[in-house]
Amino acid sequence: MIDQYDGEPMAAGKYCPADKSRAWIELDRTALTSNIALLRSILPKRCRLMPAVKANAYGHGAVLISRECSRLGIDSFCVACAEEGAALRQAGIQGVILILGYTHPDAFPLLARYDLTQTLVDYPYALLLEEYAEASGIRRLPVHLAVDTGMHRLGVPAHQREQLKSICGMKHLRIDGVFSHLGAADLISPQGKSFTQAQIETFMSAAKKLREFLPEAKLHLQSSYGILNHPELTLDYARPGIALYGMLSTEEDTRDCPLPLAPVLSLYARVASLREIRPGETAGYGLRFQTSSPRRIAALSIGYGDGLPRGLSNGAGEVLLSGRRAPIVSPVCMDQTLVDVTDIPEVTAGSIATLIGRDGGEQITACELARRLGTISNEILSRLGSRLPRTFS
Ligand SMILES: *Cc1c(COP(=O)(O)O)cnc(C)c1O
Repeated sequence: MIDQYDGEPMAAGKYCPADKSRAWIELDRTALTSNIALLRSILPKRCRLMPAVKANAYGHGAVLISRECSRLGIDSFCVACAEEGAALRQAGIQGVILILGYTHPDAFPLLARYDLTQTLVDYPYALLLEEYAEASGIRRLPVHLAVDTGMHRLGVPAHQREQLKSICGMKHLRIDGVFSHLGAADLISPQGKSFTQAQIETFMSAAKKLREFLPEAKLHLQSSYGILNHPELTLDYARPGIALYGMLSTEEDTRDCPLPLAPVLSLYARVASLREIRPGETAGYGLRFQTSSPRRIAALSIGYGDGLPRGLSNGAGEVLLSGRRAPIVSPVCMDQTLVDVTDIPEVTAGSIATLIGRDGGEQITACELARRLGTISNEILSRLGSRLPRTFS
């Protein structure tokens, strides 16, 4: 039963866009619950999860995922930008919502309006925010202080002791947390491991000094790979993203992962129409698919406009129908995709194709798509489009 479209309840009897008529995403509640329990089980008891629900919860649906996490006792979330945080508040999500990235000063009013916690991305930015808070009569604007421990993306460089100290003295900011981000926690090479070790030590030593000024500040450092490779760290929060969604970034890492993570997301599309192609005829755009034998072609109602990567065109990708693999033929279109179902005669209009997920004994994972496309599962998932209805199955 589908009763939600991107988190909004559907009025009874009204046209329901979250139906299964075209292409859609189904979320597995049991898998999410189990992934959360597994991550909690390897972390110290005092360490709380602060899931990364940025980019629409890696394409899963930020409101649906955050609500489910809230039900499971999670009370802190990370997003990428103020707009994502505001959308969660508007949907009624409570607790800490940390913006991991930059908020332009024009958008600073969103912070107090939606009770969002801003990351201090560097020293000049902290000055700007302090100035804004003072000018707006805000007594204590909640922030987390990012420390750059070697990734050189965001944060005050750990060796800038004066800047860090000065930030701690800012009267209109309330520094609720101090954090950093690991840039190579997925590497198992000696070089990668020693880089991560150095980042951990730099963070711990900076945190220790900052704690003199900020005894209450929460500390956090690990994302998914950091949790898995360094579960022993005793910090206040961990920020899992991809692992929460049931995989790691690559097939090999997911296979070697010590935790039996389960994918939360499945992606389906309906077969819209079927036709026979005679030898010598082509199908789809660009005359890219030409047959020398009679073929049966199915048009799926999903395309790159839904986030199905166009790189899967011309045989680079497959879908599941009746538990068997059917190759994608010709270029993926914006709203349609052609697959060759010559060997799967039971396929009819209305059949359901699995693009990510299981069908019978076969499975296509986001990691498989990532391998075929030379990217990581995170990108495949986070680019799934807003046109796809999402629901827990
Ligand atoms: C995206 C992000 C995370 C989550 O990363 P995963 O590798 O998906 O677990 C954690 N922390 C920061 C700062 C991030 O940007």
